[in-house]
Amino acid sequence: KGVVVLDTGASLQIGQMAIRMIRKVTDKPVIAVFNSHYHGDHWLGNHAFVEAYGKDLPIHALAHTREQIAGHEGNLWRSLMERWTNQATLGTKVFAPNQTVQHGQVFDYGDVQIKLHHYGRAHTPSDLCLEIVQDKLTYIGDIAMENRIANMDDGSYLGTFKYYEAIKAAAGDQLWVPGHGQGSKTLLDTYGTFMKGIYEPCEKAVKEGVGLDGAKGLVLKDPRVASRAKTMDGFDSNIGKYTSLAYLEAEKEAF
Ligand SMILES: [Zn+2]
Repeated sequence: KGVVVLDTGASLQIGQMAIRMIRKVTDKPVIAVFNSHYHGDHWLGNHAFVEAYGKDLPIHALAHTREQIAGHEGNLWRSLMERWTNQATLGTKVFAPNQTVQHGQVFDYGDVQIKLHHYGRAHTPSDLCLEIVQDKLTYIGDIAMENRIANMDDGSYLGTFKYYEAIKAAAGDQLWVPGHGQGSKTLLDTYGTFMKGIYEPCEKAVKEGVGLDGAKGLVLKDPRVASRAKTMDGFDSNIGKYTSLAYLEAEKEAF
């Protein structure tokens, strides 16, 4: 029926570039947008799509994502992106999703159906995953990444493991495509193994009364983490913080 866009990029300018690329592939208009979660690198490009296809263009998101973008997170991400890009994204305005969707819904676009999945907090409280039924391909937003350590500030380790099990059981064999990096059929297993390499040593440390510094040592020594350390983007700058978050979550669980 037309083009459906899953996440629109980090700015007006990136959205405009995406539209130029889409037009090289097809003359069909964009008829719907989905935003996977409220982090601005996934939806600030909405502005370009509304500009090109009109304010009635349906922009779909889970209720919590929609609230966050329309509220505080929307403006926060707009200004963070301006700062991080040295104002290259200047002019980008917040266009929040205008349609609320739910887990289990199926959208019919002619010969393509898109099925929606959501299984609680993973990377954020409201991560929407989109299964392109005919292609056995599922876009998973940021609940897993290929070779980059994901932001866990709003997330949950245990929730992530639960989410992976639930979506694998529901969707079966899929090409899992992340918001950052290349997709693969094994992505949830490889990224899940890395995440367990962070969480499980922290869980053990909490049980045995070992402090946060000790836990950090255990995480860095864990082969599931150590094997990724050299090549993973953002590893050195983020592993300390995300180990602290894992430790806090393990403490909360044990309390
Ligand atoms: Zn994100």
